[in-house]
Amino acid sequence: MPSISETQSMKLYVPGEWRCAKCDFRLTKNFLSASTGTVHADTSTPEKCPNCDVPMWRVSWEEDCRDAWHFLEREMVRTRQLEKQLHDEGIQPDPPYEGYR
Ligand SMILES: [Zn+2]
Repeated sequence: MPSISETQSMKLYVPGEWRCAKCDFRLTKNFLSASTGTVHADTSTPEKCPNCDVPMWRVSWEEDCRDAWHFLEREMVRTRQLEKQLHDEGIQPDPPYEGYR
């Protein structure tokens, strides 16, 4: 059972997620247990950034959501460009994936 301070920290920061403020390197630290088949975040302080040799910063939930949103926007633009390219070449792309129902 996590302590109160650990619980409050988990509300602000993504457990096990770290980034370098200098080069933007992202690190995800997890424990993988082959014997139990479980995965959980490693919240211990990471080593320094492998690129810059500076301390790494925790990633907040807000920062993680903004990064995911920017990634999604870039990928949507890229997908539309590729679909237009296929259309211009007379190739009909597959319909969008509908997911599991
Ligand atoms: Zn770095």
